[in-house]
Amino acid sequence: MMAITNTGDADGWVAVAGEFGVLFAVVLLALVIVLVSVGLLFEFLNARHPERKIQKGRTNKRKWKELYRAPGSLAIIALCFSGGLFAQMKGWTITPYPLNWWTGPLFLVVSVFLYDTWFYWIHRLLHCKPFYRFHALHHKSLAPTVWSNHNESLTEAFLNQAFYLIIPFILPIPWQMLVLQKLYDQISGMLGHAGFEHFASPAGRRPFPLASTVFHDQHHSHFAYNYGHTFSIWDRLLGTLYPKYDDTLESFETGKPDKRA
Ligand SMILES: [Zn+2]
Ligand SMILES: [Zn+2]
Repeated sequence: MMAITNTGDADGWVAVAGEFGVLFAVVLLALVIVLVSVGLLFEFLNARHPERKIQKGRTNKRKWKELYRAPGSLAIIALCFSGGLFAQMKGWTITPYPLNWWTGPLFLVVSVFLYDTWFYWIHRLLHCKPFYRFHALHHKSLAPTVWSNHNESLTEAFLNQAFYLIIPFILPIPWQMLVLQKLYDQISGMLGHAGFEHFASPAGRRPFPLASTVFHDQHHSHFAYNYGHTFSIWDRLLGTLYPKYDDTLESFETGKPDKRA
């Protein structure tokens, strides 16, 4: 253990730890606000549109059990995200580009794609036998709800969110875009578990690369398919897309229940 020989150094590290603590608290508060507001919004939308329910025959009564896991999940997310952001703010990472009309959209798209790639492979790893014990909790809900997003073990949360600790060290992304990505990530994660397909669109199916709520819902109901999150690219390339995914999503656009599965 390194001895502290200089009181000034010790004071400096205490100040840095204090700054990090403030950032962590702000991020955690923002995550809680997003969780509650987005969750209530989808509960409202779901109640208004029962015809958009994806798994008609299944009811999820685990809402409070799922929410019980949310504080731990949110704390890990806040820790990883604040850690990466703080490292960038302190100049410990590669120097980010200043935000302008091209750096913003470019680095945001690149970072979202990289996270989706990260998520796909971590998710496949979690489905391997030695690691499944960290992921089993998340799969207790066969029919997910908007609250299922944070029903995960601390290890699973860390494995996914470690991306945000690492990315500022390899991508010179402006901090504003990191914040925007995290916000998108939180909202889209909840949307993916909403249990109701509110935004069915041709953009979510072949030949386009985007996913949808049906996409992740089928991961919960059929288990060994649809490991990605924002995009279906990796699942299409590697043969893990649920075979009836495109048809099922299309049925929510056109209201043709015969295509549903
Ligand atoms: Zn899974
Ligand atoms: Zn899920």
